Amino acid sequence: MEKTELVKKAHAYLKKLCVDIPERSVGSEGNIMATDFFYNEMNSLGWQTRKQEFNAMDWKSDGAKLRAGGKNFTLYSSPYSNGCNVRGVLTAASTVAELEKLDAKEKLLLLYGPIVKEQLMPKNFIFYNPDEHKKLVQLLENSGARCIICATGRNSAPAGGAYPFPFIEDGDFNIPSVYTKDTEGEKLLPFIGAHAELFSSAVRIPGKGYNIIASKGKQGDRKIVITAHIDAKKGTPGAIDNATGVITLLLLAGLLKNYNKNFELEIIAFNGEDYYAVPGQMEYIKSMNDNFGNIMLNINIDGAGYFEGNTSFSLFGLPEELENSALSVISSFAGISEGALWPQGDHSIFVQYGVPAIAVSSKWFVDNMDIQDITHTPKDNPSIVDINKLVEIPLALKQFIESL
Ligand SMILES: [Zn+2]
Repeated sequence: MEKTELVKKAHAYLKKLCVDIPERSVGSEGNIMATDFFYNEMNSLGWQTRKQEFNAMDWKSDGAKLRAGGKNFTLYSSPYSNGCNVRGVLTAASTVAELEKLDAKEKLLLLYGPIVKEQLMPKNFIFYNPDEHKKLVQLLENSGARCIICATGRNSAPAGGAYPFPFIEDGDFNIPSVYTKDTEGEKLLPFIGAHAELFSSAVRIPGKGYNIIASKGKQGDRKIVITAHIDAKKGTPGAIDNATGVITLLLLAGLLKNYNKNFELEIIAFNGEDYYAVPGQMEYIKSMNDNFGNIMLNINIDGAGYFEGNTSFSLFGLPEELENSALSVISSFAGISEGALWPQGDHSIFVQYGVPAIAVSSKWFVDNMDIQDITHTPKDNPSIVDINKLVEIPLALKQFIESL
């Protein structure tokens, strides 16, 4: 396929995923539209395609209101939280030690300062869940508080670029919660001990979601699994995170339409990387029954195609022969370079099971993960994508896969 043809297709896919489909958060209507679109495209490109279904909750909120000392405060419902309409004495904790000593029963509990410096890992997120997080979740669940108000600052790495960031983002955590800026939290401190009222309009909506799995080649052969997550964080078009990953899969599927070499190829649109319970990934792992033995390589695309800097290929535990092939492909594309190893993303699932992986991303994001303010915000829209840079990726991956 001509490069100009790829560019044209990539533009159309980007518009479809980020403009025509209003949102792709797991559980939403747009998420189903996106997976249906991917399913149909892969089918029409001649790949054997199936859906892997799981339960997923959608969520919405028209906002939250807090009133204390005759004043109104601005805040937001925590994503996937229950809603509430409660009244009680306002109390507060800034450290775990303070929280341990506090009687928050039937009160409105404000968390501010060091205790909310880093986003709490969701209860059922198994890949990374430090003991301090588990302990804090337990303390909060046993506190008897009517609701939790989190006043947060900036913390780019785990929460993306959002300020304030939702300290709690967990559909399995049942105490209603809201969040606000740290500066707004300071204004609340004079009203500790006074009565306050909180209303949050959040509602949880049960639904379904799908991974889409497409394959080509002889079944039972050793497999190369190429993945990208199709979901996006609520409130963002998710252009770099991760429409560009999905576009790469679609273009590559077209380029490898007639692949009939040594391996079975599997292309998976994972659904849930940016959702609290990573349901698609969990469903996939369950379906694999701990049997990753016949996968020789995972290639995961997440965060690719940013207009600034090169595309990065980060190599995780590649055997020498694979590594040499990868390095030779990298060196034959001016816009691609080897990148640092980064732990977030779906490639870590494969790495944890001992499968070598290549993570494809934008070098700028890998290098600035802790300070950027784009990921998971409305700034992550099609205007920051460089389509010419993006289409190099499927071309490079085709060359690499065919060289094996
Ligand atoms: Zn992502």
